[in-house]
Amino acid sequence: MPGIMASTPCSKRLLVLLVMATFAACGGEIPPPPTEPAGLAIVGAQLVDGTGVAPVADSVIVIRDGRIQAAGPRDTTAIPAGAELVDAAGKTVIPGLVDLHAHYGGELAASERALKMQLYYGVTTTRSIGSDDPEKVALMLEANAGRPDLPRAFTAGRGFSYPDGFNARIANTPTSEEEARQMVREQAALGIHFSKMWVNAVPEPGLKIPPEIRAAIVDESIKNGLIPVAHIDEEADAVQLLEAGLNEFLHSTVLTFGPGAGVPMDDPEPSQATLDLCLAHDCAFTPTLSITQNNWHFAEHPELLDDPDLRAVMNPAALERFSNPETRARIVDAPEFEDRKAAFRQVQDFVKTIHDAGIKVALGTDSGTANVPMGWGTHHELELYVEAGLTPMETLVAATATGASRVPPVGEADFGTLEAGKSADLVVLDADPLADISNTLTIDRVMLRGEWVNRDGLLPTP
Ligand SMILES: [Zn+2]
Repeated sequence: MPGIMASTPCSKRLLVLLVMATFAACGGEIPPPPTEPAGLAIVGAQLVDGTGVAPVADSVIVIRDGRIQAAGPRDTTAIPAGAELVDAAGKTVIPGLVDLHAHYGGELAASERALKMQLYYGVTTTRSIGSDDPEKVALMLEANAGRPDLPRAFTAGRGFSYPDGFNARIANTPTSEEEARQMVREQAALGIHFSKMWVNAVPEPGLKIPPEIRAAIVDESIKNGLIPVAHIDEEADAVQLLEAGLNEFLHSTVLTFGPGAGVPMDDPEPSQATLDLCLAHDCAFTPTLSITQNNWHFAEHPELLDDPDLRAVMNPAALERFSNPETRARIVDAPEFEDRKAAFRQVQDFVKTIHDAGIKVALGTDSGTANVPMGWGTHHELELYVEAGLTPMETLVAATATGASRVPPVGEADFGTLEAGKSADLVVLDADPLADISNTLTIDRVMLRGEWVNRDGLLPTP
C-alpha cells in the first residue's frame, strides 16, 4: 500500500512558514492532531466529483471539520492559510463508493469484518439489504452513527418473502395483509431505513409473495418512514409494485435466479410502457451484475486469485473452489457455458437500456454472497457496467451520487459527491479510472467523514 506524499508538518510553526513553498514530506515526525483547525487540502489531483461534470485536471480539495469546504481548479480554489497540504499530483480523487446491495452473513463478528473489508476497498457507504437480525441492525446503526473503522451503513433489517418462498429461511413470511403490516411495524421499530421484499418465483411459481401482501408492505413501509425496495426478475412485478408506490428495484427484469435463469430469453427488453411508468415514478434500479457473472469470472481468470487482498476478502469456500483447476474446467467447458454468458449479456443490455432511457442506475453487487467478495466486488461491478456500455464517468456517478440519492432522507444525502458542504468521503487513486475503470482498484488512501482511514488492519490476516 504505497503512501501518498503528504506534507505532514514537522511543527505548526514550520507549517506556516513553508505552507505554499513545498509539499516535501518531513518524514519521521510526530503527526499533527487529527483535527487541524485550518483543515487539510489535497492538491494537484484530477478531481472526479461524482456529479458527472467534466473532471478537473489540477484540483484543490479543501477539507475542514469532516466536510468539503471547497473543491475545484487549483487556480480558483483558495487554500486556507495553515492548512495541511497533501500533494496528490498524478492521482485521481473520487467520492467514496456507495454499494446499495450487500449481505452480512454469519456471526456478528463476521459482519463487522465484512464491513471493514468494504471500507478497506473505499466503499464508504453500504446498504445491508434484508438479512439483518436485530443484533446486526444495531451494528449497522452504529456504523451509520460514525464509527471510523466501518463504512456508513443503511439497513433493511429482515426482508419479506412468502412461506417456503425465496430466502424464506431468513425472511419475514406474512400470509395476510394484516400480518405483513404488523411485521413492517416491528421492523421499523428497530430503526431501520428500508424494507426489502423478495418477489420472485423461486423455488416454485406458487410461492411468490402475492400482490396484495406486497402492496400492504409498501403502504405500511411508507407510513412508517421506510423506503420499500423489491428484488424482482419479472417485468409484470415491476409494474404492479410501481403502481403500489414502490420505486426501487434490485436486480433487473431479466430472469436471474432459479429455474430458467442462465438461458437467454426470447424477449428480454422491457417495454416502452414499463420504462415510461418507471420514469414517471422516478424509479431506480440497482442491478447486481456480479451475482451472476462472478459464478464464472474466477474460473476464467484464476490469475486474479494471486492477489493477497482479494484472497483476504473472498469467501473461503469460494476461494477453495476456484483454486481447483478441475472445478474451473467444469465451469468453462460446460455445454451450457455460452448460454449462460449470452443470458448475462441480456442483463447487461438491460442496464444499458434503462440507463439510456433516463432511468437511474445505482450500484449494487450482492456482496457477501458466496462468489461476490466484499469490497473487491464493488470495483468489479464497475467494470461490468462499463462492459454493459456505460462510460467510466457514468459508472462512477452510479456508484456514488446516484446511490447516495436513494438513501434517506431521499435526495438530501450529505455525501456521495465532492462538493462544498458534503461529508469528505473520498478515495485517492494512483491511476486514472476514466482511462480504465479497473484503476479504481489502485487505491492510495481512503477518507471517511474527513479522516484518513487507517487501512492497515482492516483486512483479516491469513
Ligand atoms: Zn441480495
